[in-house]
Amino acid sequence: MTQALLVINSGSSSVKFAAYDVAGPGSALARIANGRIEGIGGQARLRVWGQGGEPLEDRRIRVSADPVLGPEEAFEELFDWLDRHAAGRTLGAVGHRVVHGGERFAQPARVTPAILAQLDAFTPLAPLHQPHNLSAIRAIAGLLPDLPQVACFDTEFHATQPWVARACALPRPITEAGVKRYGFHGLSYEYIASVLPDYLGAVADGKVVVAHLGNGASLCAMQDRRSMASTMGFTALDGLMMGTRCGSLDPGVVLHLMGAMGMSLQAVEKLLYEQSGLLGVSGISGDMRTVEASEAPEARQAIDLYVYRVNQQLGSLAASLGGLEALVFTAGIGENSASLRRRVCEGAAWLGVALDEEANEAQASGARCISTAGSRVAVWVIPTNEELMIAQHTQAVLQGQGAHDWRSGGA
Ligand code: ADP
Repeated sequence: MTQALLVINSGSSSVKFAAYDVAGPGSALARIANGRIEGIGGQARLRVWGQGGEPLEDRRIRVSADPVLGPEEAFEELFDWLDRHAAGRTLGAVGHRVVHGGERFAQPARVTPAILAQLDAFTPLAPLHQPHNLSAIRAIAGLLPDLPQVACFDTEFHATQPWVARACALPRPITEAGVKRYGFHGLSYEYIASVLPDYLGAVADGKVVVAHLGNGASLCAMQDRRSMASTMGFTALDGLMMGTRCGSLDPGVVLHLMGAMGMSLQAVEKLLYEQSGLLGVSGISGDMRTVEASEAPEARQAIDLYVYRVNQQLGSLAASLGGLEALVFTAGIGENSASLRRRVCEGAAWLGVALDEEANEAQASGARCISTAGSRVAVWVIPTNEELMIAQHTQAVLQGQGAHDWRSGGA
């Protein structure tokens, strides 16, 4: 009987999932279906699409608003759907995206109660993601206690960074207590690194910056397809301006908010993670599509600041690499917003970026080059695929091979 793998990316009100067919060791994983459960805690819906993107399911499901019961009931619905559409496959394992693995987890890990307790400790460092990532693991363990679950970390790809890129200029004992720059979006960067040679040839192993611009956003500087620096740091607040997160901020602002303005820790956390970024500056939305569609001057300014920050930090990462040979855009905004890409590329002309306007504007999906033939820096749009990375890691952990070696290709 063939086996299937389930990949889960669990957020505050939605769960994204993908199911893969597992053939023999070493053979490619084929995606059977993907989908999402939306509106957990309110009017929940289960939506599933098939291999070719055709809709397979779209219906209301009943889940309670209770933060523990809600996810468990949502997963019950998902497993029930999978059972009915399994076509003779058994579910062999579930792989999860877990945002923070701290220093301890530089490789994907099969989850045990002890590991889960260690991962709980990182919740204050990733309050938007970690609790939901872990509650999905707990909910599934409650429903199917014998099903192997594997945690794949967004921090692990950055373990190759040199000491200077990881360190904060703080006293040694604080650094030794784990206050370091970890970097995030690692599963996305790992996928892009695995496919770069298919598109860039020898340049793939050169000086490359990948811009993951989604609701969360960061840049990763790569050399030899390994992470050398990232704009995200100790938490996923640092670096670029995001949908609702502030990005780089003078730490004196936090002292001022809590001291002179008397804000509590919780209020500052909410302000920086949920009320800032595009939402805070535009006063309209944290969603780029909505902000781009607005004529309001605040919306224009929000995009100006977003672009300014991307360009400023692109320069910083190019400096850390000592040059730039390729720039890759990925994730929701990077893959879909031609105007954002155009503005970033215009601001990066000094680095040798020359955009092919027509290629940039073309309504296309899939990987594509958007720089001119004469551009000193190759510019590409490459759709990311974090789910596939998680599925490959999960398969490798279960087959006792440790982590999947993404440099061997096969993505
Ligand atoms: P997540 O980080 O939740 O995975 P995504 O990678 O899906 O998010 O990115 C979501 C962002 O992408 C949102 O700001 C959304 O508005 C933006 N986006 C998606 N499609 C477009 C588009 N056609 N034009 C501009 N922005 C877009």
